[in-house]
Amino acid sequence: MSSPVNSPYALRVRDLAHRPGEMREHSLDVEVPDAMGAGVIAVREGAELHLDVRLEGLHEGVLVSGHASGEATGECSRCLIDISEPVEVDFAELFAYDVSEDFDFFVRDDHVDCEPVVRDAVVLSLPFQPVCRPDCPGLDPETGERLADLEDHTPREVLDPRWAALGGFQSDDSADSPAGSTPNQSPEDDGRTA
Ligand SMILES: [Zn+2]
Repeated sequence: MSSPVNSPYALRVRDLAHRPGEMREHSLDVEVPDAMGAGVIAVREGAELHLDVRLEGLHEGVLVSGHASGEATGECSRCLIDISEPVEVDFAELFAYDVSEDFDFFVRDDHVDCEPVVRDAVVLSLPFQPVCRPDCPGLDPETGERLADLEDHTPREVLDPRWAALGGFQSDDSADSPAGSTPNQSPEDDGRTA
């Protein structure tokens, strides 16, 4: 195993290891050496990640907890323009003194390497299908143009004629109904706001 000492995410814990109750707080800025995330959006290599880390000495190891903030960049999964989103994640893991099957992380060479813990938290927070905006209309399937850029584009509304008829009926009905009551409503009527 390589020494954690060279990792930019490594923190020295010699002064609190095996001292239950000891606590230290660190704030560090890491220039990400290896991208976090393999999808269309990721915290890229060279991006800045800010970490606030709390180290607490426990009997069986060092509890590493904290918050990471940075920015993920990539492209909209619908219209392919460049996008970026803030990354704000919390993490907490115990780094054990003794290698055992009960733990996933260990204190080595008097250091804890937060990298895998931060990486897991960041990667899990990234959207699987990021979009530039929630209602991004995507690309024109024929021309490949970005629909949001086309001035005369209006989203196609899918109108079910049955709901249209019901809409007129319901406005009369609700005017006569006491607030909160839902007379004669079947579960299907939940769609009336559509
Ligand atoms: Zn988009």
